[in-house]
Amino acid sequence: MNICLNDKIFEIISEVVTSEKVKAFVIGGWVRDCIMKRDHPGKDIDIVVIGSGIGIARKTARRIDPKIKVSVFKNFGTAMFRWKDYEIEFVGARKESYERGSRKPVVEDGTLEDDQMRRDFTINALAISLNKETYGEFLDPFEGTSDLKNRIIRTPLDPDRTFSDDPLRMLRAIRFACQLNFTIKENTFISITKNAERIRIVSQERIIGELNKILMCHHPSTGFILLEKAGLLSIIFPELDNLKGVERKDGKAHKDNFLHSLKVLDNIAKHSENIWLRWAALLHDIAKPVTKKYLPEAGWSFHGHEYIGSKMIPDIFRKLKLPLNEKMKYVQKLIDLHLRPIVLSQEVVTDSAVRRLLFEAGEDIDDLMALCEADITSKNETKKALHLENFRYVRKKLKEIEEKDAVRNFQPPVDGAEIIATFGIKPGREVGIIKNAIREAILDGIIPNEHEAARKLMIKKGKEIGLTPP
Ligand code: ATP
Repeated sequence: MNICLNDKIFEIISEVVTSEKVKAFVIGGWVRDCIMKRDHPGKDIDIVVIGSGIGIARKTARRIDPKIKVSVFKNFGTAMFRWKDYEIEFVGARKESYERGSRKPVVEDGTLEDDQMRRDFTINALAISLNKETYGEFLDPFEGTSDLKNRIIRTPLDPDRTFSDDPLRMLRAIRFACQLNFTIKENTFISITKNAERIRIVSQERIIGELNKILMCHHPSTGFILLEKAGLLSIIFPELDNLKGVERKDGKAHKDNFLHSLKVLDNIAKHSENIWLRWAALLHDIAKPVTKKYLPEAGWSFHGHEYIGSKMIPDIFRKLKLPLNEKMKYVQKLIDLHLRPIVLSQEVVTDSAVRRLLFEAGEDIDDLMALCEADITSKNETKKALHLENFRYVRKKLKEIEEKDAVRNFQPPVDGAEIIATFGIKPGREVGIIKNAIREAILDGIIPNEHEAARKLMIKKGKEIGLTPP
């Protein structure tokens, strides 16, 4: 028994296709991951049918449970349904031919081999028969199994044709190399560099899907380095490409901010699966090129790059088609604050500076600290150890202050409603002035974060601006 067909679902499909007298195969990622003994991130099963994929999908679903809802995409000749943890997609075998300049292929019915030829890589073109007579038989016309063994990404056809037909495959090649830790075969990679410009015809939605997957690799820098080498990065992500390079003046050089950002990203990837924290790591120095200055006395300066960088994020997110919501704000906040813990660790750490940082970072303080530690990429071990030691101290201080003052989720001990009721005023400017004064006094440690002290200050501040309780 083929171990890739261990699940009941294959038995059911087998019964259906055998009784319908059509041939069907499980193909693509399921087979690849099974041979690699890779844990499936999602459980997608792709079934290719020599005939109507939609018909077989309906019949299989009906056999399992008539209540299952089958989604049909007539235009693509595909249908899918969900069962248990699986998403099972059925497609009729097809032959595709593309015209240059067009993103839409001319599609005709085809044989299994035609269908395998239109797949992106040999490792994704492996098929296993599901019909009773040939159940479990491998069909591997392009030596995908051997490429799996040798950890190679290679196109089944001439790579120029595969990439020109659907240029997204260039990003997929790099994504798979990064995800699976494979090498892209030399002529396949050369072809990517030759066809890089064609990525422009691919929709941004598809591009960002692959970029996000690269970002989620164990070692995401591998993917970005390949994108750069292939000449794709400057097209799909010019702001990141701009970080490349080192300038030297009077014998002073700054670091290569592209390689540094990738190192920070790899560091954070070891620590967290949070994709937005990973985006923040990748983009934390994005404004270095626009803020770069050479000051003869001090050397290279990137003054304000954290602030300018955080302001650049909405444009970058819009262009990349990343969400413009609280996730974006989180990335902006981390970039804006990414120098604060370092500055803190280099100065005498005052309680009020720590309190302010806690207040501004709020819930995201732990992620911010993780980003800052990931940002220490110095090769000088003594320097690195010193920074880490300083950070341990900042963390300790953060904990102490948080336990004492609880400003992480700051809720004003006296709120607007209480100010309005106390002075018998309408909502307006005065309420804001008093609220601000209370918050600032708490953050500066002038009063404790408690109701009674805040109320006293409210009365005092009210008097100063001409308000008295009725
Ligand atoms: P993952 O789930 O990690 O993305 P996968 O191989 O299952 O891996 P899918 O995008 O779900 O990736 O695609 C399923 C299969 O469809 C692939 O294994 C491949 O055979 C084929 N395929 C997907 N996209 C393309 C494409 N752009 N060009 C050619 N074949 C493709």
